[in-house]
Amino acid sequence: MLIAKGLATALVAAQLAGAFGQQPARERERAAAAAAAAARPLAGRTVVIDPGHQLGNGRHPAQIGRLVDARGLRKPCNSTGTATNAGYPEATFTWEVGTRVRDRLRALGARVVLTRSTNSAAAWGPCVDARGKAANGADLLLSLHGDGSSPGAHGFHVIVSDRAGEPARLRARSTTYAEDTRAALQRAGFARSSYVGSGSALSFRSDLGTLNWAQPPAVMVELGNMRNSGDAAAMSSAGGRDRYARALVAAARTFLTR
Ligand SMILES: [Zn+2]
Repeated sequence: MLIAKGLATALVAAQLAGAFGQQPARERERAAAAAAAAARPLAGRTVVIDPGHQLGNGRHPAQIGRLVDARGLRKPCNSTGTATNAGYPEATFTWEVGTRVRDRLRALGARVVLTRSTNSAAAWGPCVDARGKAANGADLLLSLHGDGSSPGAHGFHVIVSDRAGEPARLRARSTTYAEDTRAALQRAGFARSSYVGSGSALSFRSDLGTLNWAQPPAVMVELGNMRNSGDAAAMSSAGGRDRYARALVAAARTFLTR
């Protein structure tokens, strides 16, 4: 009896093996393609990341002071950006977070373009109009900044364009992306701004050339106040920057796959 039972088990196992062996190649290919698509959910999407400022802007006052068309107003090409009290520059912070976001989005299948290719004390720019126009044809623009406010003010805020003439549909989509960004940053443990947005951490502005020229949904994120000791501690540490980057990638993924 024991032998017969063992034989029956072996027969079932052989039948199962035969069934799997006969699985059509087409189905196996389909399963492999589905697995690959799940691993690369942003394949076919293009994200432009704008790491604010450039490390050498302060050495090129004439170039960055030149007025450009910020779409509806004329503004300086760029500015030097701020820094922590210990001297960690905003340009370096946005570069280090931006390149982390780039690498993670590429791993998810996205095509990623940065508005500047270096963080160099010898370089300047690009100007704000070029930063916005760099997103033409892309699916998303993420502009990264750190703020320089009073020491007692803290937290992040997300800025959306409300320039006159902005299509309502584009403003609505940018606002949704801003809300996704706010939610992801909060989930990562970052506090909403205590000084911009009346508790909403959202800000609507018409004077930012980068956002004004962007054709796809776009946000500018002030990730923290570099003059505040708590925010500066997170922004100055590799672990803190990684936490910002993971949150920003999660937000872009949420928005692009909703
Ligand atoms: Zn800035």
